[in-house]
Amino acid sequence: MLTDNFGRRFYYLRLSITDVCNFRCNYCLPDGYECNGERDFLKLTEISRVAKAFSQLGTEKIRITGGEPSLRKDLPEIISTCKQTQGIKKVALTTNGFKLPTHLPSWLDAGIDAINVSIDSLDPRQFHTITGHNKLNTILKGIDMALSANNAPTVKVNTVLMREYNAYDIQSYLDWLKDTPVTLRFIELMQTGDNKEFFDAQHVQGARIKQNLILAGWLPVISDKSSGPAQEFYHPDYQGKIGLIMPYSKDFCNTCNRLRVSSQGKLHLCLFGESGLSLREQLQCDDLEPLKAQIVSLLGDKKATHFLHEKITGATKHLAMLGG
Ligand code: SAM
Ligand code: SF4
Repeated sequence: MLTDNFGRRFYYLRLSITDVCNFRCNYCLPDGYECNGERDFLKLTEISRVAKAFSQLGTEKIRITGGEPSLRKDLPEIISTCKQTQGIKKVALTTNGFKLPTHLPSWLDAGIDAINVSIDSLDPRQFHTITGHNKLNTILKGIDMALSANNAPTVKVNTVLMREYNAYDIQSYLDWLKDTPVTLRFIELMQTGDNKEFFDAQHVQGARIKQNLILAGWLPVISDKSSGPAQEFYHPDYQGKIGLIMPYSKDFCNTCNRLRVSSQGKLHLCLFGESGLSLREQLQCDDLEPLKAQIVSLLGDKKATHFLHEKITGATKHLAMLGG
């Protein structure tokens, strides 16, 4: 089992398969995707080796992310490759869902277990302002399709809290959750290398929302080992649940259970660490032992926490680089 110097165990791998994105979310890629570096993203054979090596080291869950992962035409093959890897119990995807109704059937056929869709406003005009795309209704239709599918995946919705764009209208999300059986996760905006001014103007603490939820009768869900740092709540009158991800809260990193591999095959020990540690050389052959040895050895450098409180964001310019 992958364990670091602080006794944390890593059941969960977040695998980025591209850093390209078609959206221009104001907190992430406000000027859209700019191709500055290599675009030599991991190939299917390399992805298969990553999945096998991590599963042999105890990883049980893989989340595929990006950039926008659905821009890769071979996404269904990537999902099924991860899914067929012995030891991997759950394959999840994080997506902006821009073509969710069209893509969903092939992802379901490939065996996807869980889909997280980002929706930063339930108001179509505000959604357009935040992302640069008028896609809210398409995405909501895709979510309804996912929920009513035969082999329905778990559906979660990610909402990044922003003072002037959505935090004043939590009620519209609560109204939606009354009859919609999804888990909505409010994510505190994180500072990255590129968004300092935006962060200073828009950051809202999740703790305030948590307080209001508890006052309104929301109750904590008991979490399991794979749930990570989200704090979840349920309410007997609501079909949906609410999660809070508060990276600035005390002890947030104590429950870290995830490692990241970038679309260039670099291991990232923390979302806000220094530039990743390359596994690419070890990914070129079928013998997984050197790859596993490299992962175990690099894990020895994982720090106890991120340094976001000191406004140190590491090498992460924006989260499209790594997948959040
Ligand atoms: N494009 C996909 C999407 O938006 O779902 C996957 C990649 S995106 C980087 C993954 C998640 O990170 C999204 O839910 C997004 O809202 C979140 N995210 C991006 N930048 C963030 C930031 N600065 N602070 C908090 N969350 C952020
Ligand atoms: Fe693209 Fe996701 Fe970043 Fe939005 S949050 S710009 S959809 S990578």
